[in-house]
Amino acid sequence: MSDKKSTNRFGESAVTAIPKNAPLADRPGHKLRSSSVIVDRKELAAAEAALVGQQVEAVKFDDQKGIIRFQDGEDPTELVANRFTGPSFRNRSERFRFDGHKMMHHLDRIRDWQEGTRFAPIHIDMGLTKFCNTACIYCYAVIQNMTKGVMIQREPLLNFIEDCGRLGVRSIGFIGDGEPTLNPAMYDAAVLAKKRGVDTSMATNGLLMDMDRAHDMLRDMTFIRFNLSAGTPEGFQRVHQSPGRNFELLVEKIRELVRIKKENNYPCTLGLQMVLIPECFDQVIDEARLGAELGVDYFVVKQCADSEYKELGVDYSDYHKMEKVLHEAEKYATKDYVVQIKWNKINAAAETNLYKQGIRKYDICYGTPFLAQISGNGKVYPCGPFFNKERFYIGDLHSESFHDMVMGDRYWAVHEDVAKSVDVHKDCAIGCRQDYINKFLWDLKNPPDHINFI
Ligand code: SF4
Repeated sequence: MSDKKSTNRFGESAVTAIPKNAPLADRPGHKLRSSSVIVDRKELAAAEAALVGQQVEAVKFDDQKGIIRFQDGEDPTELVANRFTGPSFRNRSERFRFDGHKMMHHLDRIRDWQEGTRFAPIHIDMGLTKFCNTACIYCYAVIQNMTKGVMIQREPLLNFIEDCGRLGVRSIGFIGDGEPTLNPAMYDAAVLAKKRGVDTSMATNGLLMDMDRAHDMLRDMTFIRFNLSAGTPEGFQRVHQSPGRNFELLVEKIRELVRIKKENNYPCTLGLQMVLIPECFDQVIDEARLGAELGVDYFVVKQCADSEYKELGVDYSDYHKMEKVLHEAEKYATKDYVVQIKWNKINAAAETNLYKQGIRKYDICYGTPFLAQISGNGKVYPCGPFFNKERFYIGDLHSESFHDMVMGDRYWAVHEDVAKSVDVHKDCAIGCRQDYINKFLWDLKNPPDHINFI
């Protein structure tokens, strides 16, 4: 490799990276800012032998051939921009999209929304209980009145699943205020949903997961995410306020699930999620390493969502101190193990696709009809942070069918109220679940000039 540094005829630095012995074109059209030296792409295939020993990799596409150049000592598995000379570039496809949205795959619902037709949510996040067996120090649900023993009952839950199938709801996450595995009907709800064509997932602390239902879960659920914000027993005790021995118990459960999944070739994705707070800053690398060792599919790090009164005391500018460590954690990723940091929200105090200095890059919340949220007591609201706010209460699954709710006036009046009256910059705390969707819908509603010039 011969990186040519030179000063051009205007006195400016001009750097090229033409491989040594690469075939050069005879008569380029005119002088460039660097020189008149360009690679003869047509001759590259024939010249491959001359490049042997240099840091290059030959790539074939039909009858064309190209080369990828590497700098001395550069890891060939790392993707570096502008190192390719040839017929095509190869992007690694994104396996999961934790830090974005997938609305473009549901254009039918977007069209319904644009036309003012009533439609079912694409996805619903749903609590199955209002209580928990751990006491994580970042728990948002505590702010929303956790109540021991309160949970949606079996019959209303199964009826709700049937309604979701009828309505065409595409997925339900048993992700909500309380711990889902404490509701014994959870397993049957997941099995029924699969039969009705509705995908399910779950976020759990995993400690009381019924391993006798492991096959049902791994066969019928799309993903199981373990809420784990520690990589050591000491960190676990500190952050989850649960004895360190429970950390070992959980690790063994996850290991067993990975084994059953692999042995039976089940499709369910298994992952770990850390909620980043200063108390677990020292646990990030340990957990990234733990996930790799357990053989789970991913480790994701998300921001901690605080309330409008900041009862959790999260200072987003603290995350800035963690950038190096988070990048270090990303290095544990392999082709079978995704490590992803939700940079768009973690960096909300700086500037990302969604935020600038903590202010959202959209003014109106349009996303709630697409992604609804239901509390563990069976009460339906447009979004989780508004649980218990009577003005936005839609109905109770114990007394009303979800199908009738979605087709009824109250449901749409509440969503309209959210869009018209909620000031997302004042009434909503940073990092709500609908953020990515809201930004997408905002852009759709506020097009730039010349949209036909795509
Ligand atoms: S923007 Fe506000 S109203 Fe909309 S979903 Fe988020 S928290 Fe709820």
